[in-house]
Amino acid sequence: MPYKLGTSYFSTRILSHVEKDLKEIKKQKCSFVVHTFDETDLYYNQENMKKITALTHKMGMEVYYTPWSIGGIFGGETFSKFVMQYPDACQVLSTGERVGNACPRHPKFRALIKFWIEAASYAGGDVLFWDEPHLWIAEWNERESKKDEFACRCSVCQEDFQKIYGKPYPAAMTKEVEEFRDATLVGFLDFATSTAKQVNPKLKNTVCILPHDRRWPNPMWEAVGALKNVDIVATDPYWKARPYDTGQRWPLEGYVDLSAQRILDLAQRHKKEAQGWVQIFALSKKEEKDITKAFQMWEKSGVKNIAAWGFMACQSYSLLASERPEKCWRLMGDYYKKLAKKK
Ligand SMILES: [Zn+2]
Repeated sequence: MPYKLGTSYFSTRILSHVEKDLKEIKKQKCSFVVHTFDETDLYYNQENMKKITALTHKMGMEVYYTPWSIGGIFGGETFSKFVMQYPDACQVLSTGERVGNACPRHPKFRALIKFWIEAASYAGGDVLFWDEPHLWIAEWNERESKKDEFACRCSVCQEDFQKIYGKPYPAAMTKEVEEFRDATLVGFLDFATSTAKQVNPKLKNTVCILPHDRRWPNPMWEAVGALKNVDIVATDPYWKARPYDTGQRWPLEGYVDLSAQRILDLAQRHKKEAQGWVQIFALSKKEEKDITKAFQMWEKSGVKNIAAWGFMACQSYSLLASERPEKCWRLMGDYYKKLAKKK
């Protein structure tokens, strides 16, 4: 099987710019583009998304869409209108504090996801990329993580917990709470991926699982792998934390290679395709060499669907951009050109 190689793309909706950038992406031997499809695109830009998709297809590349920051429960550096409009559908911490992230169990949020899937189908994409689904993360909100401060304990979650366990939802972390929190995300992903197939049976689903979780074997990974409507399982071991993430840094060795092995193993056991992501953003000049090392690890793992975040090393976002974005982008392209020649 030949390699499938990709990059994410965002920021520009001016079609002449997009066309120029897509030519550049194609030149680097990409066979797919992960277009962000955020709430702004959903409310105000559906026609442009359709045109961008047609341009990408015309150049022979597959189109993925990611629900970027939608409801604040996926990866992405942008904002959600939904959480402002429907605070009653947002997550509640164990401390009682309401936060700006939608609750994946809330029917109003699920209706938004269905609306997004319909828009994605209308725009003509091939793969829905459910990226980094997560409950509220302290470190992505300028907080320190505390054991007994967690989401979600909203009224919908409390009611579901009572139904399943026959007792009230505790305000402290327990084994049952851990299990329930996993089920919140997995149940939501089951809903999202099956709705996608109902809306348009041609749509494929990828779930990109955050590799941060130290539990192993990890029940959340297993449950995602077992979901019937998931076609591709992915993970994104970004060894250097995002600039706004106050949490732990990860080493390159022992993290990227281990995550690659784990996702391939999960994919093989559940008869899915595996996909791996390489960080080319937020790197200093000194750290550029890590890009090639990370690609080598993915190549060695045997995963043949590989992508980089993101176009031109995120030059369009100053906080995320690498120090020398063109150079990082070239390092990706050099590796892709080598992989594209292999069978
Ligand atoms: Zn909830």
